[in-house]
Amino acid sequence: MTLVSEILDAHTAPGRFFSRQEGSTLRCLACAHRCLLREGRRGICQVRFNDGGELRVPWGYVAGLQADPVEKKPFFHLLPGSTALTFGMLGCDMHCDYCQNWLTSQVLRDPAANLALRYLEPITPGEIVTLAGQVGAQLVVSSYNEPLITAEWAQDVFRQAREAGLKTAMVSNGHGTPEVLRALAPVLDAIKIDLKSMQAARYRQLGGVLQHVLDTIALAHDLGLWVEVVTLVVPGFNDSAEELWETARFLARVSPDLPWHVTAFHKDYRMQEAENTPAETLLRAADIGREAGLRYVYAGNLPGQVETYENTLCPHCQQPLIRRRGYRILEYRLSTEGRCPHCQTPIAGRWSHAHSSAGGAAGP
Ligand code: SF4
Repeated sequence: MTLVSEILDAHTAPGRFFSRQEGSTLRCLACAHRCLLREGRRGICQVRFNDGGELRVPWGYVAGLQADPVEKKPFFHLLPGSTALTFGMLGCDMHCDYCQNWLTSQVLRDPAANLALRYLEPITPGEIVTLAGQVGAQLVVSSYNEPLITAEWAQDVFRQAREAGLKTAMVSNGHGTPEVLRALAPVLDAIKIDLKSMQAARYRQLGGVLQHVLDTIALAHDLGLWVEVVTLVVPGFNDSAEELWETARFLARVSPDLPWHVTAFHKDYRMQEAENTPAETLLRAADIGREAGLRYVYAGNLPGQVETYENTLCPHCQQPLIRRRGYRILEYRLSTEGRCPHCQTPIAGRWSHAHSSAGGAAGP
């Protein structure tokens, strides 16, 4: 056992998302790896483990806690302009070479990421919710590392956040199971899912299975969660027209109202050979999204360089309804009912604390 795992193991609690197998063996159900955990063994994520027939899971700490604009997650159709108190733990069930949160996600795999331990702070769900109130947050969001591998912690925080009248959301790689998604749904309002590629081989390279991510997107939508999808467009990795069309067509089949964010890659972590994504590539990807029938397509990470693709346009009359620059809202024109003020078309999203899929009671 390393010093890192010793420190992390001190911040654990009994897990709930597992099934009992023969003897003291357990099967973890928190993510699509469904690790079989014999006594004393750890899962692929390294943070969940079988301790004498009991599943121990991360609980009671954060390694990142910050008040952010909800647009930074990014959610563009979820309480625009609101503050999201965002918390994260450590570890991940995948190992993407271009991870932009690698310090927190790869802590148990990459010794260079051990620095993240410095940010570990013990905390309770109640303290997170109190802090959310103090910073004026309307949302509590689990992000920075993969939240599904710490689903019990997220569920406990979200339950208390809901009781305090807050919305809840996750920023996930979508490598989930129906069991964990169904368990979280009663306390979860929204989920942002990364769809990194439509090629099964690419997902294997990143340490996941494409079909599980596609299934998670479809199930999250069916369960009534507000879903936004992000594809980080990496030159030479997933930027062919064919692949972008395939991604957009899949999302449009789930729902044409599902916002798709195509975002620009910049060299990070171990992926140094690919070029940064140029604006033309993002514009091409966004055009494909619109042509495939998606009503809300956004181009991110290159503020001011992507024509109208930072704005929410009415899908019927094309009038700009929310104008943005980066994470900032420059203009908000949705009606109080979440409709286009010109043609009255309802705009899909969660625009208020009233639970609605196509407009709510009040804008920001
Ligand atoms: S969360 Fe995923 S990777 Fe971690 S133990 Fe469970 S099934 Fe395995």
